[in-house]
Amino acid sequence: MKTVAIIGGGFSGTMVLYHLMMGHDLSPLRVLFFDDAKRHARGVAYSTPVDEHLLNVPAGGMAAIPGDMAHFVAWLDGPVGRGEPGVFYPRRLYGQYIQHFYDAALDRAKKNSHDVQIINEHVGAITKSESGALKVGEHSVDAVVLATGASQPRWPGANPMPNDDRLISNPYGPTFPDALERIKNFGSVAILGTGLSGADAVMSLHRSGYTGKIICVSRHNNWPVKHGLKKPWDWRRIIDSLRPHSNKIWRGMPPQLRGFCLRHIGYWNVVRHRMPRQCHAVLRDLKKSGQLQMERGGVRDIIAQDQTIDVVLDTKTLQVDAVINCLGFIGAGVMGNPLYKGLNEAGMIRVQDGLLNPDDFKLSDEYPIYVLGPPLFGFLIETSAVPELRVQAKAVAGKIATLLAA
Ligand SMILES: Cc1cc2nc3c(=O)[nH]c(=O)nc-3n(C[C@H](O)[C@H](O)[C@H](O)COP(=O)(O)OP(=O)(O)OC[C@H]3O[C@@H](n4cnc5c(N)ncnc54)[C@H](O)[C@@H]3O)c2cc1C
Repeated sequence: MKTVAIIGGGFSGTMVLYHLMMGHDLSPLRVLFFDDAKRHARGVAYSTPVDEHLLNVPAGGMAAIPGDMAHFVAWLDGPVGRGEPGVFYPRRLYGQYIQHFYDAALDRAKKNSHDVQIINEHVGAITKSESGALKVGEHSVDAVVLATGASQPRWPGANPMPNDDRLISNPYGPTFPDALERIKNFGSVAILGTGLSGADAVMSLHRSGYTGKIICVSRHNNWPVKHGLKKPWDWRRIIDSLRPHSNKIWRGMPPQLRGFCLRHIGYWNVVRHRMPRQCHAVLRDLKKSGQLQMERGGVRDIIAQDQTIDVVLDTKTLQVDAVINCLGFIGAGVMGNPLYKGLNEAGMIRVQDGLLNPDDFKLSDEYPIYVLGPPLFGFLIETSAVPELRVQAKAVAGKIATLLAA
């Protein structure tokens, strides 16, 4: 029996599994499906239980399979009565939608005698045996899919994050609900970063009944703009209209220009990402009431004192009771991730200027190692949202089916 390892159980890994099980007439196959956070089928974005955490793309754009753009909206008729393409539904609901693909894949696997093993483990290394076979941990495999999602959250300042209950490093970590419970009676909380994650953190605090001060810090001092640009001549429409072509334009740019753009990606994120209107309205009301304050500045350091936390900006120092880090993920490149670093050091993957450099999702000329989704950021500019991932997942599954059939 041939064996495929899928590493990462979020949207990307789940949809590769789905296409592999549903779309191809394969001989019985063993699939080792790894996720180190027990988030099979939902991943980071869609495992939130918080109803106020909304999709940042309206339902009409969130079909999980390419070529059937109305699929998510039609599926919504079940849980919500009548799905509306223009609505930003809770991400929790989208998690249920992906779960239904996962369940369908497991059903089909059973019918076709495939052996899908759900493994709640971290994959620390992929190696080659003396005979040249690929090994994931102790398992010999015939192909690997890297669907590991975004890299680690970025912690500001020169020093590593101090071990202190008042500092929350990641608004999507499994311990975030407990951390929220701990800080909800504090007098002031600083949220570092005013992107979509920062907005999510404000929503979580607001929902928890928090009444203290919320200070949102960023270099540019702007939230992403809201969806539904009113004026037909709004210049940001140009950015939206570029979306289907962005990756082609990006790959055509000289490497120095791509490097320059990656260093200034924060500004792109403000104009490129869109926030649901409901979320914008909550931020506006909190600001009007004086509970939410915006603070411009780059974060230099975070110092945990006995009574307060000092947030050292390049403009001033703020003193708060707790900090939630929403600065996003470590920029482009995955070489800080030991899994990719090990593969690179062993010469098993194609890397250029610290970025993965696949050929049609295949990371090696010699080994059947495939990659999709956020790890490709930098090589591609658009590679972390469903409109791109649904296409990538189907393509990767097709490549593996062809390989196994050969
Ligand atoms: C908060 C948030 C909201 C978002 N909202 C939207 C939205 O509304 N619309 C949209 O289109 N996109 C949205 N996105 C983009 C989102 O990243 C993608 O839609 C998609 O969920 C990415 O899925 P993924 O499977 O590639 O990665 P992930 O969901 O990150 O899944 C990767 C999984 O792999 C596991 N893993 C990583 N390394 C290993 C290892 N070595 N061994 C074992 N397991 C491992 C991780 O723990 C994780 O569970 C959002 C992203 C975030 C973070």
